[in-house]
Amino acid sequence: MNDVLFTGPGPDALFAERLAQGRFEIQRCDACGRHVFMPRVLCPHCGAAALSWVAPSGGATVYSTTTVRRRAKQGGDYNVSIIALDEGPQLMSRVEGIAPDAVRIGMRVCAGILRSDGHAVLVFRPEAAAGGSHDA
Ligand SMILES: [Zn+2]
Repeated sequence: MNDVLFTGPGPDALFAERLAQGRFEIQRCDACGRHVFMPRVLCPHCGAAALSWVAPSGGATVYSTTTVRRRAKQGGDYNVSIIALDEGPQLMSRVEGIAPDAVRIGMRVCAGILRSDGHAVLVFRPEAAAGGSHDA
């Protein structure tokens, strides 16, 4: 048995649990009202411990992006992008649904949950893709 440091699951586990249930939620500080991501115990802005889980709009913008080269048999190239949520926090994720090198800084994207190998992964898709106007 390992020592138990917390009486309940930590904030990362709570985030993963919500994602597995199909819910993308981030924290918002009850004291200063700012949104927080990655999940934390204390607000990084003001130090308060009163963080509530809220559903963000899902709207976001690509802040930076890079294409990671990978052999086709290992799954092919993919992108790693820093995504700025409309609520303020930035997080590392990837943009799905378009060629990895077609992801552009400033592109509007929206959050989605990808299920892969039994895991729920937060990804982003181009907003325009909903209309299906382009294809790679
Ligand atoms: Zn705060």
